[in-house]
Formats: sequence, structure tokens, C-alpha cells
Amino acid sequence: MYELKIITQMACAHQLREFEGRCENLHGHNWKIEVFVTGEELEPNGILIDFKRVKTATEEVIDKLDHKFLNDLEYFKQVNPSSENIARYIFRALEQTLNNEMVRVSKVTAWESDTACASYAEP
Ligand SMILES: [Zn+2]
Repeated sequence: MYELKIITQMACAHQLREFEGRCENLHGHNWKIEVFVTGEELEPNGILIDFKRVKTATEEVIDKLDHKFLNDLEYFKQVNPSSENIARYIFRALEQTLNNEMVRVSKVTAWESDTACASYAEP
């Protein structure tokens, strides 16, 4: 199995609901987002998927979140804007545009600090 990863980042504000701790207050993070794609077979040219395609698709998703107050977005009115749910949101959006017979999104990781991250993955 081949695995590729791209890294990007976004700056957002959030305020967790039903959470006792510092994240219940309005604040922001510079999230580092990692996107993993996997596949069993390479193209004849020896690549799994052009990194640029993964980066472009990810930027399109991130654009909707970057420099926003996440709680204001329709999706996060229903779903708490935790790093876990941010990772899942990005995963779900990316699998729509990137998945095909050869390649699939396997994991998205959202780092909310240098030492803490949450991932959403499908085996
Ligand atoms: Zn937070």
C-alpha cells in the first residue's frame, strides 16, 4: 500500500459547547491539517496521485473554514467544532472529490497545537 501526505494550515476561532475547560471560551488555533491518501497501485509514471491535486482539493475545503468563527458555519451549528469533528468534516469533503478506483482519502489529522491532534480515519 502506498500512502501520500500533504500538510496545510488554517487559522480559525471556535468555542466548544458542552465542554468544561479552556476551549469553552471563544479563542482561536492555527490548525495544522494533514491529509493522507492511499492506494495499492501506481500510475504507469510511478506516482499514486499528483500532490498538487490533493493540495488543491484540500485548499478548496480549507477556504471555507480559514479565518472563520467555526460555530457560525452551518455544519458546526449542529456539530461541535472540535478538532475531531473538523478532521471528519475535511475527510468527508475530500473523499467526494479525491476518491476513485485507485486512490482514497484514508485519514485527516487536525493539529490544534504542536502537541495535540485529532484524526478521523476509515480503514
Ligand atoms: Zn480550542
